Amino acid sequence: MLRAKSAQLISEAKALIPGGVNSPARAWGSVGGDPLFFKRASGSRIWDVDDNELIDYVCSWGPMILGHAHPAVIDAAIDAARLGTSFGAPTELEVEMARRVVDAVSSIEVVRFVNSGTEATMSALRLARAKTGRDKILKFNGGYHGHEDALLVEAGSGLANQGIASSAGVHPDYAAATLVADYNNVDSVRALLEANKGEVAAVIVEPIGGNMGVVTPVAGFLEGLRDLTTEHGVLLIFDEVISGFRVALGGAQSAYGVTPDITCLGKIVGGGFPVGAYGASAEIMSEVAPLGPMYQAGTLSGNPVAMAAGIATIDELSKSGVYEGLQAKTDKLADGVLDVFRKSGVPAVINRACGLMTVFFTNNEVTDMDSASATDREAFGAFFHGMVDNGVYLPPSQFEAWFVSTAHTDADIDLTLDRVAKSLPS
Ligand SMILES: *Cc1c(COP(=O)(O)O)cnc(C)c1O
Repeated sequence: MLRAKSAQLISEAKALIPGGVNSPARAWGSVGGDPLFFKRASGSRIWDVDDNELIDYVCSWGPMILGHAHPAVIDAAIDAARLGTSFGAPTELEVEMARRVVDAVSSIEVVRFVNSGTEATMSALRLARAKTGRDKILKFNGGYHGHEDALLVEAGSGLANQGIASSAGVHPDYAAATLVADYNNVDSVRALLEANKGEVAAVIVEPIGGNMGVVTPVAGFLEGLRDLTTEHGVLLIFDEVISGFRVALGGAQSAYGVTPDITCLGKIVGGGFPVGAYGASAEIMSEVAPLGPMYQAGTLSGNPVAMAAGIATIDELSKSGVYEGLQAKTDKLADGVLDVFRKSGVPAVINRACGLMTVFFTNNEVTDMDSASATDREAFGAFFHGMVDNGVYLPPSQFEAWFVSTAHTDADIDLTLDRVAKSLPS
């Protein structure tokens, strides 16, 4: 596989941009080597600057659920752009977009659009603090919610209730106000809420874990969080930045039938443009300025190009049979990959949800960050490089989801399975 142009560009980029990338997940740090540079994508395919064609299972980390450059989305964005890309004043498109989100997501009566998932979670935390008058938040080990200071905290083992910053530069007061529980472990949440009675504003959780690889909630986990938070007067925040509009039009909350107090959206909601959103009941959202005392703003928030792309995306996703089709494709891919591995004696488990999956190289179930970390990441690295060499682009980390789009055809998946067979780690 020729990579001369990508190699040239990364060497230029490294002098100009930290590590040559504008988001660290794009670097190939955990698998080794330098990233490919891409120039074009359409449907399930993506082309690098050296004209290699790959089947794409990154899909921009989720937003491209309809595949790349979907005509309805591109037309809507171009039409909107011709009329002006931002006014810094209200538009009809924002109303139309808000109505779609409110109709789709049952816990949301009122929604505020922002420009990224990070902004959505950061604002949701501020809202929870404003509403409850409490300072602490509880998150889960292995839960990623964007790069807001209070959320860049994970648990070192044995330090689960102390808050260890996992980024340099996070103010220690933020880290100290963040409690960390274990995913799929309601008892770990109960213990922390009891030890911090009356101090916790919110529990924030990915209702389907997507940032330790895919980890689905065990039966009773989300229900347990709902009961415990209600009992303790704590707001429950579902970070549906990945799961929103992916596992169902109504997100994981509709798939699992558990209703959070505040919902965060991102990725798909912008149809490939920078959009995030947070929403809740009208009562909770009345805290938000200009109605209430919690300030949150954005120059480009709700801009017409992004709103138009989001509307077009949601309209496509609202057509009948979309999620059944996406689930069937995910199952075909996941079952097929498992089958190839079994026949070759490669130990692997696959966690999946609609349009999402992760292959872990292990014989054990993966249900939380500890079990995800205990998998064979060298095998993943070898598999990743084999797949890229064979024309399949995967997320360059064990702890990420593969994203399946509605544009992936059965033929794409069959081709992918052939390539999996050629890319097995030895
Ligand atoms: C990607 C992601 C975020 C952050 O969104 P950005 O748009 O990258 O800021 C937050 N939460 C979850 C669950 C995510 O996957």
